[in-house]
Amino acid sequence: MIYFDNNATTPVAPRVIEAMLPFLKGSFGNPSSAYSIGREARKAIERSRENVASLLGANDASEIVFTSCGTESDNWAILGALDAWPEKKHIISTTVEHDAVSKLIRKLEADGYSVTWLEVDEEGGFDTAQLRNALRPETALVSIMLANNETGILFPAGEIGRIVKEHSGAIFHVDGVNAAGKIPIDLKSMQIDLFSISAHKFHGPKGIGALYIRQGTDIDPYLIGGGQERGRRAGTEAVHQIVGIGAAAEFVSDLSPMEKVKLLRDRLENEILDKIPNSRLNGTSDPGKRLPNTSSISFENTNGEMILHRLDQAGICVSTGSACNAADHTASPVLAAMNVPYAWAMGSIRFSLGRFNTDDEVDRLLDAFPGMLADLRATYRH
Ligand code: PLP
Repeated sequence: MIYFDNNATTPVAPRVIEAMLPFLKGSFGNPSSAYSIGREARKAIERSRENVASLLGANDASEIVFTSCGTESDNWAILGALDAWPEKKHIISTTVEHDAVSKLIRKLEADGYSVTWLEVDEEGGFDTAQLRNALRPETALVSIMLANNETGILFPAGEIGRIVKEHSGAIFHVDGVNAAGKIPIDLKSMQIDLFSISAHKFHGPKGIGALYIRQGTDIDPYLIGGGQERGRRAGTEAVHQIVGIGAAAEFVSDLSPMEKVKLLRDRLENEILDKIPNSRLNGTSDPGKRLPNTSSISFENTNGEMILHRLDQAGICVSTGSACNAADHTASPVLAAMNVPYAWAMGSIRFSLGRFNTDDEVDRLLDAFPGMLADLRATYRH
C-alpha cells in the first residue's frame, strides 16, 4: 500500500505504540490514585502535557487540556467562548473551515447568532481588511483555521490575532488540527487564545486531542463537568491515549523530516501538472502560504471518486477532499468557495504526504497515474 492521505489520518509511529503499551498492560493505575501505579500514570500524563506544550510553543504546560479529538476541542472552544460572553451574539469565521467548526457555527447561526463568513479568493487566501471591517463590539469569537485540510492553504494566524486584539475584545480560536507537526508553531509569540489539535493527524492514536487555553482566557471551563483536568474537562484520563499524544508530539517536534516531505510533494505535484493535460493546482503555489505536504489538484472532465477507486485498486490511497460528494454531484464546499469551476472541482484529488513516504512511492504513483487518468477520461460521461 502507498499512503498519500496523511491529512485524513496518519500511521501511528512505532515509538508511539511502544510508549503507550506499558499503560495498557501493567501500569493501569488511575492517575487520581495516591499509590505508586496511580502516581506513575499521573507523571506520564504531565510529561505528555509538557511535550504537547513544547510542540505548540505554549508558555506553560497548564495551558494544555486533553480532549477526545480535534472535533471536541473545536466544539469546546467555540461553545466555551460564547458561554463566557452571553451578551455578545456575533461570530466571525471563514467559508472554508472544517465541518467540526462550520457545522456548529451554522447551527449557532440558525439559533440566532449573527455570523460573518469571511470569503476566500481563488488562491484560497482572504483579505484581512474583510476581518477588520467585520469586527464589532458584540463580536464574541473569531474562529479561523491555520491550515486548510483540503488544500493545505495557511491563513496568517499571527496577523489575524493582532487584528482581532487591536480592534475588539473577541476571543480568537484557531483550528490547528491539520497544522500541528507539519509547520513550526509558537503560540507564546502569537495572540491566539484557543488552539485545537488532534493526535491522529501527527502519528499519534485516534481518540485523543488537546485544546490550548491561553492563561487568563475567559472561556467556560468545561463541556463535560467533573473533577479531572483541573475541573476543565472531566472523565478519568485515558492515560494510554494521553501518553500517545505526548509521544507523538515529541516525535513530530523535530520538523527537519518535513523538508524531505516537501521535496517529495513538490516533485509529485510538478510532474503531475506537467504530464497531465488539463490539470491545475487548487490554491496558491506560494510555498510560504501552503503546508509542505499537501497538493489539491483538479483534473477537468473526470470524477474524483472514480480516480480514488482506480488508485485504490492499484494500492494507492488518496482523497477527493473531505467533502466532495459524488453521489449527489456536489463539489467540495472548500473548492466552491475558491470559485473552482464545477467541471474541474468534481475531478479533484488531494495528495497529502507524510514522514513515512519514500521517493520510490512517488515514482510508482507517477508511473501509474497519467495512463490511468487518460483511460478514465476516455470513458468518462457526465
Ligand atoms: N479540523 C480539521 C482542520 C481537520 O482536518 C479535522 C479532521 O479531519 C478536524 C478538525 C477533526 O479532528 P478529529 O478527527 O480529531 O475530530
